[in-house]
Amino acid sequence: MQTLAQYAATSDSTLGRQFYEAPPKYRSEYQRDRDRIVHSTGFRRLEYKTQVFVNHEGDLFRTRLTHSIEVAQIGRALARALNLNEDLTEAIALAHDLGHTPFGHAGQDALNKCMSNYGGFEHNLQSLRVVDVLEEKYAEFEGLNLTFETREGILKHCSLPNARQLGQLGERFLKQHQPSLEAQLANLADEIAYNNHDIDDGLRAGLINVQQLLEIKLFEEHYRVVKDLYPQLSERRATHEIIRRMINCLVSDLIETSKQSLAGVSPSSIVDVRQYSSPIIKFSEQMIAMNLELKQFLRNNLYSHFRVYRMSKKAHHIVERLFDAFINDTKLLANEYRRKAKIMESSDGDIGRARIVADYVAGMTDRYAISEYNRLFDPLQLT
Ligand code: MG
Repeated sequence: MQTLAQYAATSDSTLGRQFYEAPPKYRSEYQRDRDRIVHSTGFRRLEYKTQVFVNHEGDLFRTRLTHSIEVAQIGRALARALNLNEDLTEAIALAHDLGHTPFGHAGQDALNKCMSNYGGFEHNLQSLRVVDVLEEKYAEFEGLNLTFETREGILKHCSLPNARQLGQLGERFLKQHQPSLEAQLANLADEIAYNNHDIDDGLRAGLINVQQLLEIKLFEEHYRVVKDLYPQLSERRATHEIIRRMINCLVSDLIETSKQSLAGVSPSSIVDVRQYSSPIIKFSEQMIAMNLELKQFLRNNLYSHFRVYRMSKKAHHIVERLFDAFINDTKLLANEYRRKAKIMESSDGDIGRARIVADYVAGMTDRYAISEYNRLFDPLQLT
């Protein structure tokens, strides 16, 4: 069995769960977290939520579910290579997008705007709310009662006002401390996964092409190598071979650079990791520059492509109309949410009611949001 590094997170050194539970008999604490996440309702919803493309545009594009699995797979490889806790990295990766709204970033921006007078909407905080409160699975507590380390990893960013409400979990944002190395890994595994799959999906959708991608150093380098080695290869296979090599190159760079950085800092435990002034897991300077170039390319050519932009506009429209309808008349909500909105309104006023509406809208899959929109606003639709 692999021995974990002294600075890895372990079941023995966990800061524990909000509600005490006896340690699992046959699993580690983080295996238990991962299993709870896989069995959650929020996890299954990821199948019908998208990041850049909309679910009905094609069956072969990534969804948040396949994205989360890719992040977990990259994260596990990184964790194992660095003697870090693979189970914790996997749990964080599988849960990291649970709080995402329908329609990716456009949905999140729209909901945040709707919630501007009611405390805002942050998707990382919503992921935490899903695992802490919204999942209804256990007799003895709300949510999944995950360990501190998994929750710490899920909460990648947090605004300072919200961090102040979160007690121990919010402290690191106030003190500018770091999360565990496993959380740092999961964060960068996310970046590796989405940059590369957005290239793949963007090409498949015909929104970008290989000629354009040659502007980017990271792509161009691997394109040359693949063309030299396999001049006859079809474009589709060549593209996959290039992307495969890009991922490998990013992963290798991250492992090598992080090994050096760990040797330099030499943390004696997870406590040292948390108190360090900056993340220890990182890419080399050269790779950071290449990665930035890739992100800028995607921003300029893919995310702002008129077809993606049109869909984003529709997403804004759908989310805003749904939110407005429900916040102004909670009788439109299905019974369960109507009841919750009433309870929250009596304790927290408008802010409480708005939070339940946001939970409802954020929980929708892309296709459910579209159907709900039609049920509410199309006079010919049956409800
Ligand atoms: Mg992600």
